[in-house]
Amino acid sequence: MTLNTAQRRYLEAMGIDVFIARYGESRVLAVKPENPVPVVITYPPAVDPAEWETLRGEVAACKRCALHKGRTQTVFGVGDTAAKWLIIGEAPGAEEDRQGEPFVGRAGRLLNSMLQAIGLRRDEVYIANILKCRPPDNRDPRPEEVACCEPYLRRQIRMINPKIILALGRVAAQNLLKIDTPIGKMRGRRYEYPDPRVPVIVTYHPAYLLRSPKEKRKSWQDLQFALRVYRESE
Ligand code: SF4
Repeated sequence: MTLNTAQRRYLEAMGIDVFIARYGESRVLAVKPENPVPVVITYPPAVDPAEWETLRGEVAACKRCALHKGRTQTVFGVGDTAAKWLIIGEAPGAEEDRQGEPFVGRAGRLLNSMLQAIGLRRDEVYIANILKCRPPDNRDPRPEEVACCEPYLRRQIRMINPKIILALGRVAAQNLLKIDTPIGKMRGRRYEYPDPRVPVIVTYHPAYLLRSPKEKRKSWQDLQFALRVYRESE
């Protein structure tokens, strides 16, 4: 079996020692004190916590682009670093900037519902944005800002090593894939992130779906397509 963060916490709360494999290893031993037989649990390659926290610290202190001047805080990302699904949006909005977490508020609730629709909880996936700082007035990210911030996301993708990436909205998809195809033509196609090689599926941003609820049906088709691609990659 595999363990997610919630399951790990549950085992720890039950007094079961959980030995987490070092980065790159593939097994965890969970040993119940009263049971001399170790329970061997297979575990996906885990992110090195020290490396992850180093990256988080670098982002929190980052002044590579002018967006650092207007931020309340950076928005690093949230979720399970052993996740198989990586969700990538555009940039923090006002509420995300205040709370330090991506996809909160109405768009965040809709994203949670979209994930639930394909059997995923928010804490089972990892959620990040192309930019870690909020652009003023929610304008689109500028190319130079994306170029400055991109190495952070690239390192997150390498460390998480997901099975699939779901890109939310035109800005996220175009910047992630380095193409300028309109979002309508990106839907329903399987793209690939180059390093590590991970399938990328594109759908609408939840904020857009809130403004255009008629498009929710297309988004549902995209999620089902993503689920098929994910299952093929297992
Ligand atoms: S948007 Fe990215 S590159 Fe720019 S200051 Fe924030 S963390 Fe640094």
